[in-house]
This record gives sequence, structure tokens and C-alpha cells, in this order.
Amino acid sequence: MAEIIIFPLGELGEVEMAIVELLALSLPECVGLPARVSDVGVPLEGAYDVARRQYYSTRLLEKLLEHRAGADTKLLGISSADLYIPPLSFVFGEAQLGGAAAVISMHRLNQSFYGLADDSELLYDRCEKEAVHEIGHCFGLVHCKDYRCVMYLSYAVEDIDLKGNSFCPRCHGLLRRQP
Ligand code: ZN
Ligand code: ZN
Repeated sequence: MAEIIIFPLGELGEVEMAIVELLALSLPECVGLPARVSDVGVPLEGAYDVARRQYYSTRLLEKLLEHRAGADTKLLGISSADLYIPPLSFVFGEAQLGGAAAVISMHRLNQSFYGLADDSELLYDRCEKEAVHEIGHCFGLVHCKDYRCVMYLSYAVEDIDLKGNSFCPRCHGLLRRQP
């Protein structure tokens, strides 16, 4: 059965479970697939770059793929660690285009990262948009020019806040045509 399995990455308690549980409730509506939280943890070991003090997100995608259950399953990792893909200095997330695995980082979605007071509602909204965005990539969607569409490429949290959590009509049409 086609479904999304959400994996909190890292040590137990490292990722805020309230956010993970909320995502499991909202993603079915956003993406049209059932979602559940995995009871298997995925460690971050092997993805850390000591010099950069960040985790290599492509390595995390590989680790997630070890947990693939079926051909239709999408695996979404949620991390509180800061992620990168060379040559970029950081990424909010990464996904396999048309593939099974996606990962998002909450690190730079927190207001405290920017020296501001934390806002759990805003943090959740940002996580949801980034999760829908990366799962969109798993369904083969590329970046969209419409700044309101969830598939818009966000360079900063301001871009994330400006866009919605849903696909524009064009992206939605492409999503529905996926097998
Ligand atoms: Zn993207
Ligand atoms: Zn779009």
C-alpha cells in the first residue's frame, strides 16, 4: 500500500515528537497518502562532517532507504540537526527526485536560530511546508515559479513563510498523474 513513513532521526527525544505526530495527521490531507510514524529510529551516525559541524543529508537518505518497506512507500526523515549538500552551505531538506526517500531539517526553521523567540506554531507550519515540498520531489515534481506554491524553492525562512502548504493547480495536476 502506498504510504508515507515518518522517521525521527537521531537519538530518542532529539526530534520534537509533537511535530512528528502532527505531520502524520496533516500529510495525508496535503499529499493524499496515508502517513504513520515509524517505531524504528534512524541514527545520524556516519553522516556527520566534523569540519563543517553539519550532517550530510544525502547520507541520511541512504540510511532511510535501508528501511524501505514497499515499492510505493515514501520515507520521510525529520532531523533537528543542521544539514548540508556540497557545495551548498546548508539545506532545509533533500529528496530523491522521483524516488522514495526525503529528509527535512528543523534546525533553521526555529526562530531561535535567528536570535528570535521560539514560536512552536510557526515552526510546525514551516516543517509541514518543507515536508510537503520534499515529498513533492519524491513524486517527481521540480521547483515551481509560483512563490505561493509549496514547490517554490525557498532560500530563506521568509520564502517558506510566504508560500502555502499546498500545490498550485499546475503542480497538483502533475502530482495526480504520478503512478
Ligand atoms: Zn526543492
Ligand atoms: Zn506549483
